[in-house]
Amino acid sequence: AAKESGKASFVRFEPRMRDDMINHATLAGELRNGIARGELRLLYQPVFDLVTGRLHGCEALVRWQHPIRGFVSPGEFIPVAERSGLIVPLGAWVLREACEQMARWRDQYGDGAVEAVNVNVAVRQLRSSGFVDEVAAVLSETGLTSRNVILEVTESSVVDGWQVQETLQGLHDMGVRLALDDFGTGQSSLSLLRAFPVDVLKLDKSFVDGIADGADRGRLAVAAAVAQLAEHLQLKAVAEGIENREQLERLRDMGYRYGQGFFMAKPLPAADCGALMAADPVRAA
Ligand code: C2E
Ligand code: MG
Ligand code: MG
Ligand code: MG
Repeated sequence: AAKESGKASFVRFEPRMRDDMINHATLAGELRNGIARGELRLLYQPVFDLVTGRLHGCEALVRWQHPIRGFVSPGEFIPVAERSGLIVPLGAWVLREACEQMARWRDQYGDGAVEAVNVNVAVRQLRSSGFVDEVAAVLSETGLTSRNVILEVTESSVVDGWQVQETLQGLHDMGVRLALDDFGTGQSSLSLLRAFPVDVLKLDKSFVDGIADGADRGRLAVAAAVAQLAEHLQLKAVAEGIENREQLERLRDMGYRYGQGFFMAKPLPAADCGALMAADPVRAA
């Protein structure tokens, strides 16, 4: 906008921007209270093995039920939490809650209930030097092993700097697996894979969407290339945001062994995810 005006190089301060700032401050304050008052909870979206159809894992996704605003989506409050630094205590709560739930599932449905719970981790958590110890403490206090949690990080957070690199290496040395979330949307996908101890690639939903219309050959080509890359590097390939059978079948045929999406299951309360574990004939045996 500043360039278009042609007169000055500064950006005009518009009323809408002030509103954004106020909303941000208000929302951050309310989120701080909300965390303390227990307004957050987790849902779990099942991850399925697309070949066998069996439940493979679950991704923890945070929800905020505000007393007056009602449901606030993570798309709104996660960015606020990231900018304000609240993501650090919020993320710590998510990690502990997800691990406690994982331990309950294992108690209820046996060690094979699901192998791992996926937890999203923000770059600010990875920047703190205490994060590796925090993860180790939560695992030991909840009686889990490092195989029982997969941390989801984005490409941009992975290239943040040496401190993050050290943290990721520390987690990897501990045996905690890392998934690259929203893969394909970042800047430096390929070189990242050589430099970092990544275990799982999660193809971004935008590429999965492209498969539905069929007309978008560019996104289709990326989806296929990511599957091949995963195979060559012996990484797990997961496709996110599968909304219909055609997408599921084409992704599976491309080499995506695992998938998530509303076509199979939306994010569910922990008990409903547990019911899927109980219903699994192999697990229940
Ligand atoms: P994400 O980690 O990439 O999670 C996938 C998002 O796609 C989730 O949205 C999920 O509900 C949605 N999704 C899954 N399948 C489908 C589908 O078939 N169709 C459509 N339209 N959507 C689908 P959600 O739960 O709203 O979360 C949005 C983002 O917020 C997450 O993207 C993640 O980046 C962030 N987030 C959520 N929970 C946490 C958390 O505990 N910590 C951090 N740091 N970020 C989180
Ligand atoms: Mg994720
Ligand atoms: Mg994702
Ligand atoms: Mg995403």
